[in-house]
Amino acid sequence: MSCDLTNPAFTDENKAREFLEASRWPEGAVCPFCGQMETVKALGGKSMGPGWYFCNECREKFTVRVGTLYERSHIPLHKWLFATHLIVSSKKGMSALQLSRMLGITYKSSWFMCHRIRAAMTPAEKPGPLGGEGKIVEADETYIGGKGKGRTNTSASATRKTSAAWVSKPLLRLPSAAASPDHSALRLFQARRCARSLSLRSAENHP
Ligand SMILES: [Zn+2]
Repeated sequence: MSCDLTNPAFTDENKAREFLEASRWPEGAVCPFCGQMETVKALGGKSMGPGWYFCNECREKFTVRVGTLYERSHIPLHKWLFATHLIVSSKKGMSALQLSRMLGITYKSSWFMCHRIRAAMTPAEKPGPLGGEGKIVEADETYIGGKGKGRTNTSASATRKTSAAWVSKPLLRLPSAAASPDHSALRLFQARRCARSLSLRSAENHP
């Protein structure tokens, strides 16, 4: 979404719903229960209000909120989008107190929103090692981790300013195939950093 805070999706609930529908369902509404698209139809009628869909396959009603962090909440969708935008675009984060002031909602509501939005940003699982089973990882001569000293890469000094987790020596030096003809460093690298059962190749030779 654009950083423009005057975007109507931040102030109008219908516009917010349309934005989320277009973003989540670019091809058309998809049932969050069974994943079907062809069996979904929009529900009209004044009693339901706009944004409701019905799936003929699983006989469930749903809106675009179902299956997202905005599900089961009475807080208007445009306030949810605004809060999400403020939290993810604020360099130093956003407190629940500030959010309650900016959105005109209670502290209890803003605390709940902050909690859900931050929880939604948690990575689903820890990233695994490099590559994957049966895949290929290609490696050149390089230093893995450690202090910038001895690196030829000039961006190391820039990195040093932003990282607090420096150790005094490189964690692993991976020499070229010519410097390590027995590929012991490559094998060590593979054992430490890569998924099992993959094929590791250096630029000059294959171990
Ligand atoms: Zn369904």
